[in-house]
Amino acid sequence: SELEARVQSATAELAEQNEKLRRQAIQLEQASAAKSQFLANMSHEFRTPLNAILGYTNMLLQGVSGEMTPPQRRNLTRIDSNGRHLLEVINEILDITRIEAGRMPLHLSDFGIPELLQEVMAEMDPIIARSKLTVDTRLDEGLPGVWSDRQKVKQIVLNLLSNALKFTHEGGVHVAAEYQNATGTVAISVKDTGIGIDVSNQEKIFEDFQQVDSSPTRAYGGTGLGLSICRRLAAMLGGRVSLQSAPGQGSTFTLHFPRRARRT
Ligand code: ADP
Repeated sequence: SELEARVQSATAELAEQNEKLRRQAIQLEQASAAKSQFLANMSHEFRTPLNAILGYTNMLLQGVSGEMTPPQRRNLTRIDSNGRHLLEVINEILDITRIEAGRMPLHLSDFGIPELLQEVMAEMDPIIARSKLTVDTRLDEGLPGVWSDRQKVKQIVLNLLSNALKFTHEGGVHVAAEYQNATGTVAISVKDTGIGIDVSNQEKIFEDFQQVDSSPTRAYGGTGLGLSICRRLAAMLGGRVSLQSAPGQGSTFTLHFPRRARRT
């Protein structure tokens, strides 16, 4: 009948549309993978010569080629600090492309939060000492052992802590860990008494290259990639990073993640 014929042709058209969309999805995925691969290769190719530049700069700064005049030393110090900034950007882009390309695997293991935080503190010790701020940690009594990716949790906390120190001029930083039994999640928070963040910027700063102040004359160093990496790493753990802040009132960044990660 005519109706049957119309249904048939509509079905055929839908199938064709479906196939077209499927092909487009594959093409998009391939383009995205190609982009990630290109960025990964590029970052890698940049790293080798940059390490050589930094190596020679340091040799010169250490005086291996004789004493330098103060202006020479000043200029060389600028080369060194710009070179190190570039290396940081490259390493962070490499991290992001690895995550996006699915080439940053999860390494799950049993570990304790207290030991992990102790390790973070020890690593940050020189920076904490230079900051002249006090950093204390408060651990929940009933903090259980966790099954997650230790290195990723550590990288996130290191990042949050170094931001807290960078954006705080007086007062201190409080690191706290607690376990929420009802939801089975661990929360590690880093609270500072620093400059704080306006609500209008609180989402933006988790995006790639986004900083509250990105002007060439900005007062703080950094790349604007740290929090976007934290966000991606937290997602890999099945968790997230939340933020509570107000200008002049300090900020609290909290990593929430399941005590027992699920393999994806
Ligand atoms: P970076 O610190 O390298 O600029 P991030 O992605 O770690 O990059 O942070 C993005 C921006 O978020 C920072 O430039 C800063 O404007 C803001 N920010 C992050 N942490 C804090 C903090 N603890 N206090 C105030 N502002 C912060």
